[in-house]
Amino acid sequence: MNDETRRLARLDRRHLWHPFTQMRDWEREEPVIIRSARGCRLTDTEGRTYLDGVSSLWVNVHGHRRPEIDRAVRRQLGRVAHSTLLGLGNVPSIELAAELVRIAPPGLTRVFYSDNGSTAVEVALKLAFSYWRRGGEGRKRLFVRLRNAYHGDTIGAVSVGGIDLFHERFRPLLFPTLLGPSFDCYRCPLGRERSTCSRECLAALARLVRRRRDEIAALVIEPLVQAAGGMIVARPGHLAAVASICRENGVLLIADEVAVGFGRTGTMFACEREGVSPDLLALSKGISGGYLPLGATLATDRIYRAFRAPHRARRTFFHGHSYTGNPLACAAALASLEVFRRERVLDRLGPKIRLLGRLLAPLARRPHVGDVRQCGLMAGIELVRSKRTKRPYPFGARVGHRVSMRARRHGLVIRPLGDVIVLMPPLSVSPRDLRRMVAVVGRCIREETE
Ligand SMILES: *Cc1c(COP(=O)(O)O)cnc(C)c1O
Repeated sequence: MNDETRRLARLDRRHLWHPFTQMRDWEREEPVIIRSARGCRLTDTEGRTYLDGVSSLWVNVHGHRRPEIDRAVRRQLGRVAHSTLLGLGNVPSIELAAELVRIAPPGLTRVFYSDNGSTAVEVALKLAFSYWRRGGEGRKRLFVRLRNAYHGDTIGAVSVGGIDLFHERFRPLLFPTLLGPSFDCYRCPLGRERSTCSRECLAALARLVRRRRDEIAALVIEPLVQAAGGMIVARPGHLAAVASICRENGVLLIADEVAVGFGRTGTMFACEREGVSPDLLALSKGISGGYLPLGATLATDRIYRAFRAPHRARRTFFHGHSYTGNPLACAAALASLEVFRRERVLDRLGPKIRLLGRLLAPLARRPHVGDVRQCGLMAGIELVRSKRTKRPYPFGARVGHRVSMRARRHGLVIRPLGDVIVLMPPLSVSPRDLRRMVAVVGRCIREETE
């Protein structure tokens, strides 16, 4: 370890508190401290390079140090780094709002900015709740959440979460919700297998919503993939069916595309794949190409109009953040969307997605790989103690963590979700790097589990 790494590691251990990290373990591990990056490669203070197998926690889209995005941020720095949207406009936030509305599913016409995924969800929850009160339907105040759902870590977002390990400990602080079944086909909540499924989870959800429709404000869902819940991929048609259930029962649909948005599933937004137009759409992570923190909540005209009234009616949406519509982040986002357009990124994604599928297929035959799931360039490989019974490894075995630490030694940075190994490379990943990523993952799984 060189002097610089040693100095930074000491300061890190002394002063930092890392997210989702048991610091006692952290203090004992050899830290990797990233100093720079280019494309899909990260370089640490020791000069070692790693492939960025999870897009710097699902945010990076076109690779690091994209010249177009670098330039756009620099250009914006030459104008203004930040100016508020409270009582003022700023250039990039206006241009980006128009652009987001243009590419979003039809019907979404308004953009409310915040600065991360959790707040984008909070805004959607508060808008949905207020919407019904304004319409004189104050009884409609419950939210339907799904098991395994993840919508962020602020208290409202935790209230609609469904991952017990993360969320249940905060239950006394959370608002009441209705819990619907996950679309987890590997561990089906209704005891089915993929071969015997008749969409019982949808029937159960429909019953729940119908029974309580007069009390339900909105249903919150991650379209197509419950990402943090373990890269759980829905069967085709599931999202469209959930949207119908909402529509038929007068319940708003909140689509949280914080993880799946911006090309991750193969289309710009996951909702497009099933022709779904939600009432509210939460965006963040990939929105700025992975450059700067930015959140956006898109709303329909119908929702917008419920808040538009004479001042004295007190219908104003009383919500906002200091860095709302930050010009640097919006400039990065505009440049990222320009790269999508100019390089026809989405049109060219198909071969990479199919390649990833072909590379992952053999892993499914390994003795401790229970399930391999993929949607677009998002993939999860679930490791189990027993393939036949699907029995997981004990919590303390940390097999997913061990595989990820081993991958680092082979030049690949990944971060698992429990014992689900996650691969979510930037959309710009080359076929060669994709091959290398899956090869390292396969090798590390073999070495740790066989
Ligand atoms: C990451 C994530 C969030 C939270 O976003 P943050 O920016 O980390 O607050 C919300 N919803 C989904 C689906 C996510 O994957």
